[in-house]
Amino acid sequence: MIKTELKETIVQTGIKMLKDGLTVGTWGNFSLRDPETGLIYITPSGMDYETLKTTDVVVLDSEINIVDGECTPSVEKGMHIAIYNAREDVNAVVHTHPLYSTVLGVNKMELPAISEDFAQIVGYKMSCSEYALPGTDVLAQNVVKGLGKENGVLLPNHGTVLVGADMKSALTICQVAEKSAQIYIHALSIGTPNIIPDEDVKAMQDYVRTRYGQKGN
Ligand code: 13P
Ligand code: ZN
Repeated sequence: MIKTELKETIVQTGIKMLKDGLTVGTWGNFSLRDPETGLIYITPSGMDYETLKTTDVVVLDSEINIVDGECTPSVEKGMHIAIYNAREDVNAVVHTHPLYSTVLGVNKMELPAISEDFAQIVGYKMSCSEYALPGTDVLAQNVVKGLGKENGVLLPNHGTVLVGADMKSALTICQVAEKSAQIYIHALSIGTPNIIPDEDVKAMQDYVRTRYGQKGN
C-alpha cells in the first residue's frame, strides 16, 4: 500500500532542509521507512527541493526494487537501504552536506559528545567513516560500519548521515549534530573542549528516554 501522506513528508522535509540551511542545491537525500509495510520512500536524484512534488518521490522495497514512482531514485538509495537493513530501530535517514560537519569530515576528525543535546539524541560520538565515492556500494558499507549503533556519522569530504525513529526525530538530530559541529570547531579554536564522559552520556540518554518531557507526570 502506497501512502501519499508519507510522500508529502518527504516533500516537506526538503523544504525544511533548504530553509534551515542544512543543504544547498539538489545535494543530500532523505528517506523514511513505513513501519507497517517496510516500504522505503526516498527523494529522486538531482531534483530541486523547492519544486518537488509527491509524484516525484520514489518508493522502494528492501532489495532496492522500485515499487512506485516514475523518477530515478537518489544515487544513495543503496546506502539508505543498507542502513534500514542493519538497524531495526531506524525509520528515517537524512543525508546532507552541511557546513560545519563537513569541515570535520574534511579533516577526518570525529565529533565527540560535547553538548547535552548531542549526548541525548545523537550518541556517544559521530565517527568519521572511511572515504568512498558517492553512490557506491563501498560508501554504503562504510556508512553502516561508521554509524554502528549511534545516530550520526561523518562522511569524509562529503557530508553527514543522521538517522532516527521517524523523520521528525531524524531532522532534529540533523540540526543538533550540525550545531554541535559548529560549537566543537569554535571550542577547538580557543581552547581544549571538554568531552562528556561515556557514563554521563548514558545517564542523559536514559533520562531522555524515561523522564524528559511530558511522560505521565
Ligand atoms: P542525489 O541527488 O542522487 O540524491 O545525490 C546527491 C548526493 O548528495 C549524493 O551523495
Ligand atoms: Zn551526498
